[in-house]
Formats: sequence, C-alpha cells, structure tokens
Amino acid sequence: MTDPDAIVIGAGPNGLAAANRLADAGLTVLVCEQHPTRIGGACATEDGAEAGTRAGCKHDVGAAFFPFNKASPAFNALELQKWGLEFAWAEVESCHPAPDGSSAAISRDDDATAQSLGGRDGDAWRRLIAWHRLAEPKLIDALLSPLPGIASKLKLLPIDLFRFARIALSTSGGFSRRLFRSEAARRIVPGLGLHVDIGPDDLFGAALGYFLATTAATGGNAIPVGGAGAITAAMARRLESKGGAVRLGASVARIAVEGKQARAVVLADGTEIAARTILADTGAPALFNRLLPADAVPGRVRRAMTRFTRGWGAFKVDWVLDGPVPWKSGEARRAAVVHAGDDIDDLARFTAEARGGAIPSNPYLVIGQQSLADPTRAPDGLQTLWAYSRVPPQVEGGWATRREAFADTIDARIEGLAPGFRQRIVARRIVAPPDLEAFDPNLVGGDLGGGSNHWSNQLIFRPVFPYFRYATPVRGVFLASSYAHPGAGVHGMCGWNAAGAALRRL
Ligand SMILES: Cc1cc2nc3c(=O)[nH]c(=O)nc-3n(C[C@H](O)[C@H](O)[C@H](O)COP(=O)(O)OP(=O)(O)OC[C@H]3O[C@@H](n4cnc5c(N)ncnc54)[C@H](O)[C@@H]3O)c2cc1C
Repeated sequence: MTDPDAIVIGAGPNGLAAANRLADAGLTVLVCEQHPTRIGGACATEDGAEAGTRAGCKHDVGAAFFPFNKASPAFNALELQKWGLEFAWAEVESCHPAPDGSSAAISRDDDATAQSLGGRDGDAWRRLIAWHRLAEPKLIDALLSPLPGIASKLKLLPIDLFRFARIALSTSGGFSRRLFRSEAARRIVPGLGLHVDIGPDDLFGAALGYFLATTAATGGNAIPVGGAGAITAAMARRLESKGGAVRLGASVARIAVEGKQARAVVLADGTEIAARTILADTGAPALFNRLLPADAVPGRVRRAMTRFTRGWGAFKVDWVLDGPVPWKSGEARRAAVVHAGDDIDDLARFTAEARGGAIPSNPYLVIGQQSLADPTRAPDGLQTLWAYSRVPPQVEGGWATRREAFADTIDARIEGLAPGFRQRIVARRIVAPPDLEAFDPNLVGGDLGGGSNHWSNQLIFRPVFPYFRYATPVRGVFLASSYAHPGAGVHGMCGWNAAGAALRRL
C-alpha cells in the first residue's frame, strides 16, 4: 500500500469498526496494531498452547459475551455474518446464584425468566421487558449515537423518556429494590452494573445494569463460535476485502502534526507513514498526552488527562476443566454467564473494598461458560471456564506476590456455589491487571472500561469536555476507542461514530 488516506491506530473492535466505515466510504485505510501476533485488542482469543493451559482449548483474552450483537448499528451495517462470524447461545443468559441455593436467571424466553424470578417478581419483569422490547431500538439509538444526538432522542415518546430517565437517575440498588421483592431477583441489576465500576449505591448507576439485564433478554449473551476473536477476525477480513490492511507489530509512538493538522504517524522503530486522517483506538490520556505533540493540545486538556478517572482493575482467571462446573443451581448449569454476588449488601461491601484499594475478601465474579454453547472451545470432553473480578489496579506488595492467593480465593468462591469445582480443574491461568496492560496498552491497570463508567466520566464529560464528539484539537485526529462515547463494550460504536465524524470533516 502506498501512503494511505487514513490510518487507524489499534486493531481493537472500535479501531476495526472505524477502519471499515472509512473503507466503505472509499478511503484507503491502514490499521497499525502494536501487538506482534494478534489483532482484536481486548476482543481476541488465544489457544491454550499459548496461554499455558491445554493445547486446543480456546481462551478469550478479554470480552467474551456480546449482548449488543443485534442492537449495534455498527454491527448491523458491517453484516459480519457474511464474513464468517457465527454466534451460539446458551439456554440461560445470565444466572445469579447464591450459596444458600437460591438463584435468579434471565433468558431470552420471557416466560422462562418470569418463572425463574417467580410470582410478583416474574410479573414485574414481564411488564418491564414488554416495554423495553418496544422501546429498545429507540433507546439504543439514543444511547449509542454521537452526542448530542437530538434527532435520535426526539424519536423517544415522552413516556419512554420519562420511564428511562427514572431508571437512569436511580442507583442500581434502589432500582432493584423498587422493582423486585426477592433478594435473588434484586441482585441481578446491581450484579450486572459491577461489570464496570458501578456499585449498588452509586448515583445514576442503574442504567448500565439495566441495559445488560434487558439486552441479555433481547439479544442474549451471544457467544462467537471459535472465540471472541472471531468478531475482530471477521472485521479484518471485511476490511481487507475493501482494500484496507492491518499491520501487526506496528506500535505508534507519536503523531506528527504540522500547523495543527495531522501529517503522519511515527512508529516506535522510527518508520513514518503519512496520512492526513488519523483515528486513535487508544487511551485518551495516551492520545492527548503522549501521541500528540504537547504544543498541539491545550494545557487544560493535558492537565485533565493527567487526572483522568480510570475504572478499577480486572483480575481474570482461565481454567480448563475435565467436565462442566457442578453448580448447585440447575439454571447455572445451563447459563452462558454466572454471577457471584450474594445480595446487594455483599455487592456493596465488595464495592467498598475494591474502591478502597483492598483485595476483595469475597470477590464478586463474572463467570463465563463459553464451551457449554460452543464445543469448538475445548477438545476431548474438556470444558473451558473464564472469570473476572474487579480489583484495585495496584495492591500492597504488588500483584506478583498476591495473584496466586487471590486466584485461590476465587476458586473457593466458585466452590461455594458449585461443590466439587476444584476437583475438576485440569489447568488454571491467572491474568492480573499488569498482564492485561502488557498485551493491550489501553487496559491501564487492568481497567477494562476505557476509564471509569461513573456518571462524571460519561456523555459530554467523556473523555473531556468539549472533546466528546471524537474530534481533537488537531485537525484530522479523532479518538475512536472506548475512552470516547458511548464507552465500554464490544459494539463498535465509538469507532463507528469517530469515522462518521472524520468523514464529515473530509
Ligand atoms: C477481562 C475483560 C472482559 C471483558 N468482557 C466483555 C464482555 O464480555 N463483553 C463486552 O462487550 N465487552 C467486554 N469487555 C470490554 C471490551 O473488551 C472493550 O470495551 C473493547 O474491547 C474496547 O474496544 P476498543 O477497540 O476501544 O479497545 P481495545 O479492545 O482495547 O483495542 C485497542 C487496540 O489498540 C492497540 N493499541 C493501543 N495503543 C496502540 C499504539 N500506540 N499503537 C498501535 N496499537 C495500539 C491495542 O494493542 C489494542 O489492540 C471486557 C474487557 C476485558 C479486559
């Protein structure tokens, strides 16, 4: 490829969504990815041989479940199924068991969910999800489109707007207590909110848990056949078919600027590649304070980036098991994702510990059972298991000295919900916050959300006012990663919207 029209820095799902949209508009696009062997960023898969577990087992390095598979405008436009992407679904989407044997679960079948929640809670779910199914296309459009997105918000009926505002203004604990009677049902939404750094008592914290609960029912926690990397691989294949290219081992060290206009990227090995349109699927602080020249960025923005609020770290464990997890809960045995979090108080305690810098004593867990729905993940009757907890990015003594003990605590928590679990373990691999950052520099301190998801870091504050519409102070440079609106998750919309902004500028 001669000098491309546009360069995308980073081949994560947002970078690849951006690259595809630019290529669709007729631009020649080069994606520079720092990882030496793999695309996908935090949406990738590695073989057990590489991960040090069992050859032939497939472990998702980050994202594993894709509730936006049907709702994301970017995914719908890209039609990745035509590029080889196939999804599988488990029978139950999200299960929330407790050691006392109680359990509550969301399925794509609303009757099954109502039955799991039981009585009045089941009826409350039926009413909520019936409304949500009608409002979802407009809500998702309003949520994922570039800000201020007045047109998309105007499509919402006043009653929809009122209902959604009432949810979004609640804490996740408050919303759950208002909606449900049983502790089992009440732990669902706050448990889902903790996928990022939103605790049950956090102001305006209910929206994310609400969306993860409802999209589990509408789109399901879709499981890509072959691994999460199948999503980014399909995006790359599509890009290449349009004349675009991905270059591995191409770490961008800086962006060259001339008269406030982007001129080129300079790789760590000194190679310079000219382009006047550059989209960064990188961290916002990395873009504003490292890649761009200091004199091209206002001092106020640089200072804001030094104070940028990061999310907590993630501590991940991959296992190979010699059979399925022997959950006490029958629903958990059929679930794509199982959450460990006994009740709202337990989740609040966990939040206080993680936020206070302590290693959680009873770690909240998101546990993925991809191989139940996708047998390609593990050969010979084996099963894979994937889980993460949220932790402080740094701990006393460093993660190197604490990781084994904390992974044992995680094993013990699962054992409490599934007696006999530990005997099924064939191999275990620990991925502590520094390991996440080592393979993907966007995951600073293991932060999986592109910065905190607290309300003060959202909408027009993401990543910093007034640069919430992807453009930066340098002409031709756009922020395309989850550090931009609408934030974390594999929906591709940060990159998609950034490419839209770049095309409008062109
Ligand atoms: C443990 C974990 C579990 C998760 N679970 C889920 C889930 O189940 N579902 C879900 O939807 N989301 C999940 N997420 C979040 C999701 O993975 C991210 O929100 C998403 O990957 C963000 O996409 P992105 O393209 O913005 O960034 P990334 O995926 O981080 O990709 C950024 C890319 O840019 C590259 N890069 C950065 N700087 C440079 C540079 N200077 N030069 C060249 N290349 C560079 C990186 O190497 C990387 O490949 C999870 C994340 C983690 C870590």
